[in-house]
Amino acid sequence: MKWYFPLILLTVLCNFEVFAQTQVIAHRGYWDCEGSAQNSVFSLKKTQEIHIYGSEFDVSITSDGIPVVNHDPTIKGPNDRLLTIEKTPFNLLKDLKIKNGETLPTLKSYLKQGKKDRNTKLILEIKPHSTKEIEDKAVKIITEMVSKSGMEKQTEYISFSLNICKEILRYQPKAKIAYLNGDLSPSEIKNAGLTGLDYHFKIFQTHPEWITEAKESELTTNVWTVNDPVVMKEMIDRKIDFITTDKPEILKSLLPQ
Ligand code: MG
Repeated sequence: MKWYFPLILLTVLCNFEVFAQTQVIAHRGYWDCEGSAQNSVFSLKKTQEIHIYGSEFDVSITSDGIPVVNHDPTIKGPNDRLLTIEKTPFNLLKDLKIKNGETLPTLKSYLKQGKKDRNTKLILEIKPHSTKEIEDKAVKIITEMVSKSGMEKQTEYISFSLNICKEILRYQPKAKIAYLNGDLSPSEIKNAGLTGLDYHFKIFQTHPEWITEAKESELTTNVWTVNDPVVMKEMIDRKIDFITTDKPEILKSLLPQ
């Protein structure tokens, strides 16, 4: 046996270990820090600064088809009136401020910031809309915008809506698409043509066999939203691929560097 064979084997094993390690995703960006806010462009910038796998954020479309970044389907307008995003034209939303003083971010502004650091993935959640028609329109507009901005390889998709996941697959057959709703087994996810399960951590505690089944089917596993270090440790030990958290620096400190 050549003297360097063990070295090659060690290198391969080390690389496999790096690849196999649980990765950190900041939930709604890294917002739990000075000057930041959930789903702000600044929260994406802060994620980029701590060098983790990705930054998650939520996208809906306005009534005139502009994708904006906001968690809820509604947002407070003038005089605290609640405006439903999918029923409101962008013109009435574009000057609204979010908690850190930024104007309501658009997907366009998010993609622009995302491009500044090619190593941080954009985990783009497309929110369910009130009808299949609006959901289909949202997917078309959002996937086209991602493609045109040259961000296809850097963007991964998630959604609670199976219809949205299937529509994304139609437009971007090579995209990573994970389903959030927790009610489908790995074989059902595989049959739907999706690439991963992104479930509440309690789902995997109830169905630990889904972790092994997902790996056997080459599907990714992701858990949300894990902020308790005890549960973080448990999920790392269960070899979950990704943990989505509001506390990315705490999770990072629990992982081998
Ligand atoms: Mg989300």
